Amino acid sequence: MPAGPIDPPARLLMGPGPITAYPRVLQAMSAQLVGQYDPFMTATMAETQALYRDVFVTGNEATLLVDGTSRAGIEAALVSLIAPGDRVLVPRFGRFGHLLVEIAERCGAEVHTIDVPWGQVFAPEQIEAAIRQVRPRVLAVVHGDTSTTVAQPLDELGAICRAYDVLFYCDTTASLGGNEFRTDAWGLDAVTAGLQKCLGGPSGSAPITLSERAVAVIESRKSIEAGIRGVGDPVRTDRIRSNYFDLGQILDYWGPKRLNHHTEATTMLYGARECARILLEEGIDASIARHRLHGDAMLAGVQGLGLAPFGDLAHRMTNVVGVAIPEGIEGDAVRAELLADYGIEIGTSFGPLHGKVWRIGTMGYNARRDAVLVTLAALEAVLRRHGLRLPTGGGTEAAIDSYGAAA
Ligand SMILES: *Cc1c(COP(=O)(O)O)cnc(C)c1O
Repeated sequence: MPAGPIDPPARLLMGPGPITAYPRVLQAMSAQLVGQYDPFMTATMAETQALYRDVFVTGNEATLLVDGTSRAGIEAALVSLIAPGDRVLVPRFGRFGHLLVEIAERCGAEVHTIDVPWGQVFAPEQIEAAIRQVRPRVLAVVHGDTSTTVAQPLDELGAICRAYDVLFYCDTTASLGGNEFRTDAWGLDAVTAGLQKCLGGPSGSAPITLSERAVAVIESRKSIEAGIRGVGDPVRTDRIRSNYFDLGQILDYWGPKRLNHHTEATTMLYGARECARILLEEGIDASIARHRLHGDAMLAGVQGLGLAPFGDLAHRMTNVVGVAIPEGIEGDAVRAELLADYGIEIGTSFGPLHGKVWRIGTMGYNARRDAVLVTLAALEAVLRRHGLRLPTGGGTEAAIDSYGAAA
């Protein structure tokens, strides 16, 4: 039988991402293609760069999109900044810290790590002490780690990095747009993100911004222009060990030279541009406040059902709540039933938290009152069927009270 037209089921994506996309983003992504050097295309690229400077709260000229999921942005930043043998420090507090280690190792770095238990964050003094000991070239840290639902405070780390001449990289995929984030004020040198969390788009584009210091490092490692090297031409030993993720070439493609690298993913460009437009139209502070409002309501609702939240609530992300799976309840069976009977997806967890914690997101398009209340009502109904005794309407009542208290 030939495959029919695509027709996905109606879903409410209340997990840690991806989440239901803003309809406007999907509309933007159905626009027709233009050629790679069409004036409309280059103007749209320039517009998108300007929009993301505002999203990242930066004056960095070098602000652009890496084509690929968030991981592509991470890999582009690390492979372009790290030369083989460079020391890299990764403070790990969740799954994505492990990813930074893995990628930095593949870049040939000498990787050093410090750890806190999942659900906690580092004090700046802990990170400074490790920097003093390791003397890394790069500090690579995750901002909000959806795997543990907490966000590492970053505001004091930039000054520490300057004092020890360290490049400061951050993965802000899970937090950007829903939690406070300031590239320049916090002294960041490289920041990467993705669309499928608070920005409310599909995965497939990785916004990135680079300080002048980071650009200088990348420029210094350039050995070839536009990927054309004569046979027998010397190769630098510290040359960037990727072609696709060589930010030197990607910067030349987005910059005034417009040197050909890859073919920009036009449809993702349209989507990323619309995500930024939606965020900036609402206002970054208003968007953060909205994420906090609905995240607080979800947290109150979960507690109103008598369930225990996971992680250090003082550092919790606004946009995802961790929920300890009650004793005797099979977490994946509950998730499957929520999806099959209610069309609602919530998240499982990885590593040490697997089978112990659900993750419920309220982000982007789904940071909405109706999405919060419907999810809590459905969760109560499913848990009741699994034999749990719960306060009737305890989730929705507590959430509504939380909205009332905030009004
Ligand atoms: C969700 C998430 C990602 C996602 O990476 P993809 O390549 O888009 O799957 C990366 N980093 C963090 C911190 C995340 O929460």
